[in-house]
Amino acid sequence: MSNYREPRVFLVGAGPGHPGLLTLRAVECLSQADLVLYDRLVSPRLLDYAPTTAERICVTELAEHHVERCPHVNQTLLEAARQGKRVVRLKGGDPLVFGRGGEEAEMLRAAGIAYEIVPGVTAGLAAGAYAGIPLTHRLHASAVAFVTGHENTDKHESALDWSLLARFPGTLVIYMGMSRLRHIVEDLIKHGKKVDTPAAVVHLASTGGQRTVEAPLADLPAAAQKAGLKSPAVILVGEVVGLRGELAWFEQRPLFGKSVLVTRPKHQAGDLASRLDQLGAMVHLLPAIEIRDPPDWGPVDRALERLGSFQWLVFTSVNGVHAFVRRLRKTGRDLRALGAIRLAAIGPATADALRSYYLEPDLVPEEYRSESLAEALTSQVRGQRVLLARADRGRDLLRDELAKMAEVTQVVFYSQADVLQPGSESLACLSRGEIDHVLLTSSNIARAFAAALDPKDREMIQAGRVQLVSISPVTSAAMLEVDLPVAAEAKEYTSAGVVEALVKLATGN
Ligand code: SAH
Repeated sequence: MSNYREPRVFLVGAGPGHPGLLTLRAVECLSQADLVLYDRLVSPRLLDYAPTTAERICVTELAEHHVERCPHVNQTLLEAARQGKRVVRLKGGDPLVFGRGGEEAEMLRAAGIAYEIVPGVTAGLAAGAYAGIPLTHRLHASAVAFVTGHENTDKHESALDWSLLARFPGTLVIYMGMSRLRHIVEDLIKHGKKVDTPAAVVHLASTGGQRTVEAPLADLPAAAQKAGLKSPAVILVGEVVGLRGELAWFEQRPLFGKSVLVTRPKHQAGDLASRLDQLGAMVHLLPAIEIRDPPDWGPVDRALERLGSFQWLVFTSVNGVHAFVRRLRKTGRDLRALGAIRLAAIGPATADALRSYYLEPDLVPEEYRSESLAEALTSQVRGQRVLLARADRGRDLLRDELAKMAEVTQVVFYSQADVLQPGSESLACLSRGEIDHVLLTSSNIARAFAAALDPKDREMIQAGRVQLVSISPVTSAAMLEVDLPVAAEAKEYTSAGVVEALVKLATGN
């Protein structure tokens, strides 16, 4: 124990692609990272677990099989660790399964740098689970072999004895084998593997882009080619593949294979994204707006100083609630400053934001919109002082309605900034036809999104090849104003509601 030194480098498995298949330890390591060196196949969403201040470097330039190009990544890693930084080397799947994590650990050991290795869900396990293929089964397979189909090109002779593998008494899981699929199958058959052994190729296992092709071993290369399956994919060979017909589940999810663009600010997109993940969608996060501090804290601080003089405090968004509480704390107060003030929330999400601070709203209208909130409040606020915590942009309907019978102070607690640049590369995914649906979750988001579209993107949308789903009638109205067609509208104006509308649209029922 006396020799213990805090690790500086963390070799972390990122899992196979589904953002939920990350370990808790990986999240802990990421959340303390100063530098994240990540592989190309790692989902960009995982990087959001790292502090915003952490440096992120993608090691794309490092082609899959070019060991000789490793040194400069290793050098970056060593230098950062020597400067005392906490470095996370985030690798697809498991770091020690065909991930060269072993070589990195050897290098760190040689350099005297303490490290930790965090395992991850390796592609072969994910392919089994998400394609419905049990890698072992009491009746069909008592062993599993993880095999590389692409060996180090420096080796002159194959280290793999395919005659032994052909006789292996269990399931073969072959990584990096797509470019040599034909040879691999020939080798296995030549050495005695039965031509009709059940076999499959699973591409992008565990993601909404997963594609699986199943065929008797001899026919697998032709079937995979016909389906256009490429790397990254694993090849599974063995009797257990035959169970897939009954056990497959992921590919039947209602949004399976659909690409969905989420345009919410990142810090609010998590709930929506994980609902979509569970339904099998490929989720792309591309915030159209960002939440920032208000242009001036003066009016906010003056309102907080005389908080006791208000009878009602009205919130029209989740962001308003968080901004309010943060500023309260920042100015040296706490929730006791609220005293007996009554709280109103525009909808269920805003109500939940209050509850996250143990505050129960006194009023939540049945329908989530300004008109309903105004209506519900009018009978209650007559002759009283009302504080309205809101964004810099938005409708004045609530203030105007309440001002008819109450003394209303409207204060900007946060502002919204459009962050999608017109013609930005990140939006080009629309015109490239990579997106099936876009979720628009507020009128400001709809306007910011519309402003960033170029004519080609618009064409895709007008042609119905990209469908837009609106969270509420107010959002739909804003969409129509900027000439965006509404393919579906949520019945309940929440994340759950917008996802439900999308599912209906995508599945046609
Ligand atoms: N360390 C990684 C493997 C890296 S080698 C792991 O444990 O999963 C790269 C190979 O992994 C690819 O050629 C492919 O065979 C496989 N692979 C990685 N991600 C995959 C995925 N989502 N679906 C199928 N195969 C995948």
